[in-house]
Amino acid sequence: MNTLDGNDRALVVNGGSFGHRFVELLQLHSIPHTEICPKPGYGIDEADLAPFEGACYTAFVVNLDETSTGVLYDIKLIGDFCKRNGLFLIVDAISAFLADPIDMLADGIDVMIAGSQKALAVPPGVSMLTLSPRALERIERIESGIMYLDLKLALKNGERGQTPFTPAVGTLLQINARLKQLEETGLTAELERISTLAADFRKRIEHLPFKLFSHAPATAVTALEVEPPVSARTIFTTLKDEYEIWICPNGGELADRVFRVGHIGDLTVDDNAKLVSAFDDLKKRGLLG
Ligand SMILES: *Cc1c(COP(=O)(O)O)cnc(C)c1O
Repeated sequence: MNTLDGNDRALVVNGGSFGHRFVELLQLHSIPHTEICPKPGYGIDEADLAPFEGACYTAFVVNLDETSTGVLYDIKLIGDFCKRNGLFLIVDAISAFLADPIDMLADGIDVMIAGSQKALAVPPGVSMLTLSPRALERIERIESGIMYLDLKLALKNGERGQTPFTPAVGTLLQINARLKQLEETGLTAELERISTLAADFRKRIEHLPFKLFSHAPATAVTALEVEPPVSARTIFTTLKDEYEIWICPNGGELADRVFRVGHIGDLTVDDNAKLVSAFDDLKKRGLLG
């Protein structure tokens, strides 16, 4: 709404439910666009971009970690493509922020979107945007057509240290405390903590009849596939109802095939061990096939 308009032609990666959400947003706001549709669980490569090389597109819209399938897109590949072709690059990094390294300058990202509710691990209610100088120019020029989410207003009010309307104050205070905590532990240490947890979990499940669904795994979440007649949905409900453990079910077509395990928030390797022993128990009971 704030950085694209009807004069743009956007390329959008339509993978998983979050890629689909971006397509719906472009439709809703009448932004001309073309979809790149990777196979579920796959990233995109050189060949997916080749048909659009030198074509007259103006913007590229992508998730960094597509969280419903746990796919980490190759942001260097995409960033280089955008630089070569002069495209404005919008990246939803909501579940990648703090879990996978991101370098806005190196990859030429113009808008990076993060949220309070993923690796920052505070309640939902605040989303944070980091904007390049090119994004500021677009915001200045484009009529957003919306009042509460108008970035012109947000930037103007930012000059006096304020927001245009009352934000989720409690969540902002928690973000502030969390950022102070991160300043002490260091960004690298937090990235390492989360990637160590993810690696530990992936190692612990090697003996189980699960397949990694993502061919380009992101760090924040592990998406696991099961073979029929085993149902991912039943694994989720059984863990919830009988073991008091919550993993994350998938929706839509993947509901019975894929479930996810998160590695962000207040988790430890002991939590991984506890979950894997529950999986072992399900296996003994014949629920994993
Ligand atoms: C969590 C997430 C969002 C935000 O979705 P909500 O439904 O508001 O939680 C957006 N994009 C990605 C990639 C996410 O992981």
